[in-house]
Amino acid sequence: MTLMRNLIKILPIFLLALSACAPTRPLTVIDAGHTPTDYGAVSCTNKIEVEYNDDLVAGISSELTRRNKKFILTRTKYNDINHADKLRQYLIDSLDDEKWEKYKDLYSRIALANEKQAGLFISIHHDSVQEHHLLRTDDGKIIDVRDDFKQQFNPGYSIYIASDPKYPNTELHYLDALKFARIFAKKMQSIGRKPSTYHEDKPGQDNYQSIDLSQGIYNSKTILVVLRNAKMPAVLIEAGVIVDVEDEKIISSQAFKDQFAVALAESIDEFFGQ
Ligand SMILES: [Zn+2]
Repeated sequence: MTLMRNLIKILPIFLLALSACAPTRPLTVIDAGHTPTDYGAVSCTNKIEVEYNDDLVAGISSELTRRNKKFILTRTKYNDINHADKLRQYLIDSLDDEKWEKYKDLYSRIALANEKQAGLFISIHHDSVQEHHLLRTDDGKIIDVRDDFKQQFNPGYSIYIASDPKYPNTELHYLDALKFARIFAKKMQSIGRKPSTYHEDKPGQDNYQSIDLSQGIYNSKTILVVLRNAKMPAVLIEAGVIVDVEDEKIISSQAFKDQFAVALAESIDEFFGQ
């Protein structure tokens, strides 16, 4: 009886100690690319990219909340980016006042992830193609991609990571970023999405190097601000090609948005080994 009483007495202390030892859950930062003013690409239904990004991130957010995951969003349709000046100190690039003012919409996203010591950064975008591949009406509206584009390339998803000796932080996290990219590519293909071949190596093109074309994974090197400033594994995902009539239709469907959210949530779990 005494033993029992003593046990009951020390139990709360034991539980408290146990919770203090429990590993902190990793934080994921989800970034909906662009803003309503700097809206990104325009689709074949005349819709701006930021709306597709916001839509997809809203679904991802619900799925992660439902799974009780630890995450933050850099912005939503209803919340602007946090531009606090103190965030500048968390960047790899050093920016003068003028450059910070001009590009803070972009830089703040990854600065926030660095400040919060996130374990993973994921930026969500939707892709377009170069102007000469576009079919437009006389008054400039995009109708579709041109036939020669359709014959040459497959539209679909693509994933960008960064590795460049100029930014040792990118090299440090390269293998982990690649690990996440491979997990996610597999999930995309399991829901029937194909990798976009549009960014495959072309003569004279140095911007994007394919790491694995069959999985749609590319090295963007230091082109993308959010990836080159990341102090954690970071990826940028193009969910699909919004100027291609068929791909735009798929991306716009609720079924796709739901499947994408589940695929991303499962990939995050698998990445962190949960
Ligand atoms: Zn974009």
